[in-house]
Amino acid sequence: MSEERESRNFIENEIDKDLAEGVYDHVVTRFPPEPNGYLHIGHAKSILLNYGLAKEYGGTFHMRFDDTNPTKEDTEFVDSIKSDIQWLGADWGEHLYFASDYFDKMYEAAVFLIKKGKAYCSDLSADEIREYRGTLTEPGKKDPNSDRSVEENLQIFEDMKAGKYEDGAMVLRAKIDMASPNINMRDPIIYRVAHISHHNTGDKWCIYPMYDFAHPIEDAIEGITHSICTLEFEDHRPLYDWVVRELEYPQPPRQIEFAKLYLTNVVTGKRYIKKLVQEGIVDGWDDPRLVSIAGLKRRGYTPESIAKFVELCGVSKANSSTDIAMLEYCVREDLKLKSSRMMAVIDPVELVIDNYPEGESEELTVSNNLENESLGERKVTFSKHLYIERDDFMEEPPKKYFRMFPGNEVRLMNAYFVTCTSCEKDESGKVIRIHATYDPETRGGNSPDGRKVKGTIHWVDASTAGDAVIRLYENIVDEEKGVYNEDGSLNLNPNSLTVCNGKVEKALMDAKALESFQFVRNGFFTTDFRDSKEGAPVFNRIVSLKSSFKL
Ligand code: ATP
Ligand code: MG
Repeated sequence: MSEERESRNFIENEIDKDLAEGVYDHVVTRFPPEPNGYLHIGHAKSILLNYGLAKEYGGTFHMRFDDTNPTKEDTEFVDSIKSDIQWLGADWGEHLYFASDYFDKMYEAAVFLIKKGKAYCSDLSADEIREYRGTLTEPGKKDPNSDRSVEENLQIFEDMKAGKYEDGAMVLRAKIDMASPNINMRDPIIYRVAHISHHNTGDKWCIYPMYDFAHPIEDAIEGITHSICTLEFEDHRPLYDWVVRELEYPQPPRQIEFAKLYLTNVVTGKRYIKKLVQEGIVDGWDDPRLVSIAGLKRRGYTPESIAKFVELCGVSKANSSTDIAMLEYCVREDLKLKSSRMMAVIDPVELVIDNYPEGESEELTVSNNLENESLGERKVTFSKHLYIERDDFMEEPPKKYFRMFPGNEVRLMNAYFVTCTSCEKDESGKVIRIHATYDPETRGGNSPDGRKVKGTIHWVDASTAGDAVIRLYENIVDEEKGVYNEDGSLNLNPNSLTVCNGKVEKALMDAKALESFQFVRNGFFTTDFRDSKEGAPVFNRIVSLKSSFKL
């Protein structure tokens, strides 16, 4: 064990015990996604948990595509899943596997069970199987097929494989206990006929193993020690144990369940994210409003912030829901010292400094991050024509408004004190230009006579600033009304995306893909790597600066 923490989670306690008792002398974990969609924040928890445990115990982490179901899988998802996991920093090294590579071994395992008298072929229909299975309160009924001889079962199973049965005409069932209080143990189906091509094995197979049979075999083949999954599989654990026991694996893996990560009022289910993508409500699987890993990355979340979030959530046996404010807190904390503080105006209005000479300009040296000197300094230009935020000016301000209004003196950040004199409006009454005068003695933003101002506002120099698209996001669903409507559809928030035409200081025009910044007073932003073009950057707001969330 490389590091000791104050308190260990219940999975670590179990592993410690297994190692102490000699059940295993090493640790092998895995992350086994089905390649049927993009990964989301919940999967990140599972990835980082499994990877983290392997690392902590000096063990091995496997990346395995659970691609045994031929109907729903797609190679696009295989590629996206790999890149998401790499981005999160979970390194599988040599250990990349595809469950479909084990189809031969799974078939052999099924034959082994038949020979042991532990599996039989059944021609009951799906309805009959359901009926014979019983209910939570009633035991199941014996399948009339369960007394077939081993020879006959072997022949039928071979015929299933050879394509002699239609879909649904025959299944292979484990022979366990039709009276078990656990319905999963009532002779579960372990193989079914499905005449469907598979993306890896093509038309080689027309029978496919069921998940509860395939998964423990996959784990056992790879020598997984701790097969960590989510709580809904708790009732399946006796079947998992039955499979690895009856197949007589020398050092069988064990399953440990933990509670899924849920975010309050956030769409996480793969099924719902897929729907938003397919219906064109969002801009693909990596839309920055989604909590898919690809979406979080494009939004500007860092792998470090996601890791911190997962750590703060902890590992538990009880389902609960976490506020996304905690994730936002984590990215703020991560970027606070890492990112430069730049000036960008999201909703610009012109400011003219009437007593500043036309055509002249000067350079001011500003710190990139006052709390982190290692980020250095940069130069920004100042001249007669500037842009400020529209809402930093009010012609008739309410009490306690300390920003710009006629007669008021404010500080232009890092530059000068200016006093607003007047504004110009168009026919509709909209302010189109603001006028002010500056005090040349206040260069750098301080007055030599000790004069104080209450407001400091940010600005950019019109002569050097560039145009940038700035996107602001809200939750894709309307939190007030809840995520789902009565009919199960999503309650969409019409304001989840606001696109602004902003003005940004010159240095931001060369921002690189995925680079993050703090735009003073407006929040943390990243360069959108999909939509930014040379000389025409697009910035996504990751989070605003303030939050009510406290740790
Ligand atoms: P979804 O429920 O969103 O459709 P899934 O469970 O169907 O996801 P899989 O590809 O089967 O997706 O998941 C791979 C692994 O990720 C599984 O071990 C699963 O338990 C885990 N996982 C999925 N969702 C979560 C979650 N919300 N929190 C933690 N782990 C999760
Ligand atoms: Mg699943």
